[in-house]
Amino acid sequence: MTLNEKITLLESRLRAADEHLSLKKDALMARYTTLHLGGPASLLASPDKTEQVQLLLRAAHELEVPVVIIGNGSNLLVRDGGIRGLVIRMCRDMQHIQVHGETIRAEAGAMMSTLSMAAAEASLAGLTFASGIPGTVGGGVYMNAGAYGGEMGQVVSLVEGYDLTGEPFRYSHYDMRFGHRYSRLMDEQKVITHVTFQLRRGQREALLAEMVDFNTRRADKQPLTQFSAGSTFKRPPNGYASAMIDQCGLKGFSIGGAQVSEKHAGFCINKGGTAADFLALMAHVQQTVQAQFGTMLEPEVRILGEDAPAKEI
Ligand SMILES: Cc1cc2nc3c(=O)[nH]c(=O)nc-3n(C[C@H](O)[C@H](O)[C@H](O)COP(=O)(O)OP(=O)(O)OC[C@H]3O[C@@H](n4cnc5c(N)ncnc54)[C@H](O)[C@@H]3O)c2cc1C
Repeated sequence: MTLNEKITLLESRLRAADEHLSLKKDALMARYTTLHLGGPASLLASPDKTEQVQLLLRAAHELEVPVVIIGNGSNLLVRDGGIRGLVIRMCRDMQHIQVHGETIRAEAGAMMSTLSMAAAEASLAGLTFASGIPGTVGGGVYMNAGAYGGEMGQVVSLVEGYDLTGEPFRYSHYDMRFGHRYSRLMDEQKVITHVTFQLRRGQREALLAEMVDFNTRRADKQPLTQFSAGSTFKRPPNGYASAMIDQCGLKGFSIGGAQVSEKHAGFCINKGGTAADFLALMAHVQQTVQAQFGTMLEPEVRILGEDAPAKEI
């Protein structure tokens, strides 16, 4: 069976198993990423309960259809040829948040901003840093997202979900091996469905004020009204990527519709180009910084999918 035939069979099996499961064929990934780039996914599923996640994983595993997990797509660059396989979008549907004393258990699809607000409203400290990060709890834990001195790994106590065969897993904080924009899940394909956070008592008004302060600072420095995936590159050991890019004179430099932001050199933005433009810009920035500083910048954005087929001349 070809991959296309497998995907057609997968779709009909899934529809037969659960008529309420949201499925879209040839879904343009540009609609599901904050960069607004990326070709079509063969099949995009948006589960709204844990059982649907397990059903999707088991069915795809049985037919050997490749699976890609996404959250809000705020750290993704999907190539122009799209993603051949099943994309499971864990965003907005599975978003229940429960507060128990000083712990919070959240579903992976909840937005980090909502989680951060729920914590502050419950007078729980430890999550104000996440209020302006435009991703989901699942994506934030996978990436160990962070800002203003905080990161998800500091407050995560338990991560639950499934491996790609649909078998459940539970990882403690220590199992997750958090590092700078790194978690163990980058080396294993697993789907996060729930995360438990261990927080500490704080003062509601002070926490809300801190969130406002962080978000004001963010809006002053970052190109929030333009299409981006946040910081394009990770912070290198010997400095800041944005400072190095700026010192190379690359602010405002563009290739096609991709540009190094004039407001913040750490952000590359899409001004109506293609993923190929964006990749070419990233490569140019890496080469220029390496030539000047001897440092090879490592992408922070996760790059997925296939290049578009070459056009016939
Ligand atoms: C304007 C802007 C500002 C930003 N500021 C920050 C910042 O301050 N700090 C920061 O760290 N990041 C920042 N980012 C980047 C981004 O928001 C974070 O990396 C965020 O954690 C990504 O979450 P997401 O849900 O969008 O994940 P996606 O981008 O959809 O996915 C990111 C990775 O997580 C994996 N993933 C997503 N959900 C799951 C799941 N449920 N189970 C398993 N794996 C999953 C995906 O496979 C992918 O590899 C910013 C982005 C933008 C656009």
